Amino acid sequence: MKLPSFADLKKGIVEKKYVEVATNTSKTAISSFLKKKSNGPSIPDESWVKCKKCMNLVYKKEITKYRLCPNCGAHFRMTPAERIRITCDEGTFEEWDAGLTTANPMGYPDYDKVIEGAQDKSGIREAVVTGKCEIGGQKAAIAIMDSHFMMGSMGSVVGEKITRAFERATEEGLPIIVYTVSGGARMQEGIMSLMQMAKVSEAVARHDDAGLLYVVVITDPTTGGVTASFAMLGDIILAEPKALIGFAGQRVIKATIGQDLPEGFQRSEFQLEHGFVDRIVNRQELKKELTTILKLHSK
Ligand SMILES: [Zn+2]
Repeated sequence: MKLPSFADLKKGIVEKKYVEVATNTSKTAISSFLKKKSNGPSIPDESWVKCKKCMNLVYKKEITKYRLCPNCGAHFRMTPAERIRITCDEGTFEEWDAGLTTANPMGYPDYDKVIEGAQDKSGIREAVVTGKCEIGGQKAAIAIMDSHFMMGSMGSVVGEKITRAFERATEEGLPIIVYTVSGGARMQEGIMSLMQMAKVSEAVARHDDAGLLYVVVITDPTTGGVTASFAMLGDIILAEPKALIGFAGQRVIKATIGQDLPEGFQRSEFQLEHGFVDRIVNRQELKKELTTILKLHSK
């Protein structure tokens, strides 16, 4: 692959490498999902799933809207639509920038096909859903990343949507809640992905300058460039139990420092003990916790 010249990169940055499609033709499944009455989790059609923590087979119908293992309480991964259902007051979520989709800024081979596959699989156009809602009657902006879309990797559209969410929250004087889950920067967009870290961080700083509250909810796994930027910039950093939170993977760290890593390394509980996380909150308690935090900080 030929690397782009500086001039190309600059042009890319100015022109912004994504396209906006009309929302009515977008692949977003958020609104249709929210209209459905069922609480069923979004797992494939098999009747059983295996819990990776206790290794028990779990009957699909036993998994409630909170997506917890009925045997051991493990927190399974959730889609943005499922998160909205357990976080936002019913009928209050309004989606922002649903039609934003990537335009393959680096000309990465077959990237378009990968994106299309991820869109079909997840039912959304990119790895984050943003908007505003009410939580326990408190207005807030919200951004929810999705591990089902290329492992929540951050490319130019993810960065742009989160940046816009912060900018709009600043304009409207709203606090913002961000659910993170990510494998890190998206390699198919190279430097474009990496610059999102600085871009989002800048928008976070302006939101902060306006005296507005930013709450992060870290979910499993949150790694790479997302941990190295906005996941660690919240005024309050909550985490779900046992979530993997780190920058590089354990194998890389172990090979680099040539030492065995401590038990529970990079999990929420370890990060709480080491000051990276303010509180670990069980998923059923999250809405209550967020409501309390928003109420305490409302003006
Ligand atoms: Zn389990």
